Amino acid sequence: MPNAPVPRPRDSVDQDQFLTILSREDAVARFEAALFPRVAVSERRSLADALGRALATDIVAPIDVPPFDRSNVDGFAVRSADLASAGESAPVRVALNDEVIACGTAPVQPVMTGTATSIATGGPVPRGADAIIMVEHTRPAGADAIEVRRAASPGQFVSYTGSDIARGEMLLRAGTVVGSREIGMLAACGIADVAVVCRPRVAVMSTGDELVQPGEALRPAAIYDTNGAIVTAAVCENGGDAVFLGAIADDERVLETAMRQALADCDMLVLSGGTSKGAGDVSHRIIARLGAPGIIAHGVALKPGKPLCLAVCDGKPIVILPGFPTSAMFTFHDIIVPVLRRLAGLPPRTDAQVTAKVPVRIASELGRAEFVMVSLVEAEGGLIAYPGGKGSGAITSFAQADGFLRIDALADQMPSGTEAAVTLFTPHVRVPDLVIVGSHCTGLDLVTAPLARAGLSVRSISVGSLGGLAAAKRGECDLAPIHLFDDKTESYNTPFLTEGLELVPGWRRMQGIVFRAGDKRFEGLGAQDAVRAALADAACIMVNRNQGAGTRILIDRLLGPTRPDGYWNQPKSHNAVAAAVSQHRADWGMTIAPVAHAAGLGFMPLAEEHYDFAVVTSRKQRPALQAFLAALRSPESHTALAHAGFRPATDEN
Ligand code: AMP
Ligand code: MG
Repeated sequence: MPNAPVPRPRDSVDQDQFLTILSREDAVARFEAALFPRVAVSERRSLADALGRALATDIVAPIDVPPFDRSNVDGFAVRSADLASAGESAPVRVALNDEVIACGTAPVQPVMTGTATSIATGGPVPRGADAIIMVEHTRPAGADAIEVRRAASPGQFVSYTGSDIARGEMLLRAGTVVGSREIGMLAACGIADVAVVCRPRVAVMSTGDELVQPGEALRPAAIYDTNGAIVTAAVCENGGDAVFLGAIADDERVLETAMRQALADCDMLVLSGGTSKGAGDVSHRIIARLGAPGIIAHGVALKPGKPLCLAVCDGKPIVILPGFPTSAMFTFHDIIVPVLRRLAGLPPRTDAQVTAKVPVRIASELGRAEFVMVSLVEAEGGLIAYPGGKGSGAITSFAQADGFLRIDALADQMPSGTEAAVTLFTPHVRVPDLVIVGSHCTGLDLVTAPLARAGLSVRSISVGSLGGLAAAKRGECDLAPIHLFDDKTESYNTPFLTEGLELVPGWRRMQGIVFRAGDKRFEGLGAQDAVRAALADAACIMVNRNQGAGTRILIDRLLGPTRPDGYWNQPKSHNAVAAAVSQHRADWGMTIAPVAHAAGLGFMPLAEEHYDFAVVTSRKQRPALQAFLAALRSPESHTALAHAGFRPATDEN
């Protein structure tokens, strides 16, 4: 194995595991060198069961198609020489033979000079005949003759033997993916089954004590196993048969047993999790005991996906994907899919690319090729690629993206305004009808629901109020939802508008103090008194909000210069505040009424926040924006918003 690196002993300290980080290209090259070339295992499959499979061998046509000279029309088989003088004013009369050649009927009588035989489309051309006359170009002339008013060229309306497929011709090459068209060619040649490359059996395993399978109850500190479902589906999408083995606890003995069993039963093993530096991360250590050459790459200069581990044990590939779902998905698609498709005999996937402008600077880590998921929107000057800002732990940053762009390992950023190549996840760009960029609110989903039902696609990109305003000013969206409080004028939103933007009132969200229902310290108090009581109690912990959030401005006004315990816990969403209080990590915080109620928390109202829309005036006549504004004003939306705990705004408030 000249290309494979010598595996380093992994049984000492964990800390050295990423010392040899390979570039993405090196890692892929070494992994492929350790796996290929290899003999593809094939199996015979009936045509119907061969759909989507790669042919294992070339297929040569065993017969001619059509297998005989065939009539293409309903009419009469004739000798063209008999009709050489025929014309509108010079009809030629030919005698009809006493035979009708239907489809599937082998002719018996020859066509002699001066005669014709009635023949159906698909009927075999009889001996002596060399052309077919369409029935429309003839007239009956008594019981057993016809009159022909057109000459016929030799071969007219005849498909000759083998003109479609000639016996001995290369019909389909090995590696061709069998689709309905290929099945048609094979069926026409009478081929009932073909040798196809076996779908590799791929064992899929998640690792981690914290994992719970979807459908089961979530215990405290546990999360749902996302990678198991993703990888299982992605394996099937790319030519493999996935065998999902569940989530295995971080126990070296248990995991080793499971991995050995999986390797015995399957052709490939894909694990996720347990490949970083954590104390419980053991799978990469087990690999060293499973067969030669073992680990090929552990640590790839890739973001997301640095902890990726690639191994080959006695000819079988083993992959440990990073635990974070987005990293797992990305590395699987980028590095594992090409290998899996090759094992399945399938051609490489072709990904479409477009060029799009990046509207903001994207910072990047030096030394790692960074892949950034982006959502595409269309602006005046072309496509704009918004980076998904949720980080590698966020499943939505992959699932809701249109594609990704690459920042070179040697760059520490991609400057704002860069025209970047975006690799699409779909064959074509899906340009949304309505683009909303700004602060997200669950009420927004209620207002856009009728648009979705009307077939309009809505793209909502959460970048916060200020980010939304900036996008609206650049003309990259139709509207920006904002809730910005201006201290000077003591008013919401209007002071932040600039030329080209206009404010459309949205709804009001009651902000207030949340606490666990039954907490005697707060029960029965108003918001101001509750905060006073909390500040007086040294054991009381708060949860704050991030700098720049509208809610944070309210909290800071309430607290003044005081910095109570918990002040530096600054999550970025209303839901995170509610969760911190529900889970006893904090005793009080500020959030909006619908979130407090959904979490079953006590709530003391404080002030109403204005959630409005900065609409880009130049886009106002666009049908999707008109549809949004109509939906916003509709009684249905008002009812739905009120039901969810929001107060729809009228022009007066
Ligand atoms: P690990 O590499 O095992 O330390 O995992 C890194 C992070 O990914 C941790 O936050 C894990 O909880 C998370 N993680 C690992 N496996 C999964 C999985 N199958 N589904 C969802 N999250 C996971
Ligand atoms: Mg883990």
